[in-house]
Amino acid sequence: METLEVAKCPVCGGLVEVAGPWVGLEVECPECTEILRVVSLHPLKLYYAFDPDEEPLPEEEHRVPRGE
Ligand SMILES: [Zn+2]
Repeated sequence: METLEVAKCPVCGGLVEVAGPWVGLEVECPECTEILRVVSLHPLKLYYAFDPDEEPLPEEEHRVPRGE
């Protein structure tokens, strides 16, 4: 049975539900549609799935203008 856990989206700060999370799992944020990857399970943390160089900085928020 899968457990449903909730993590905060690093992009928009919205809550993302992840069913049966495991490190490396990719999920899409329902708020901003950013593709995120599970980087930690305890606590559950998400980070950008596509992040070429930067290391995860838990307290830092990078907001990329999306040109709406
Ligand atoms: Zn988001």
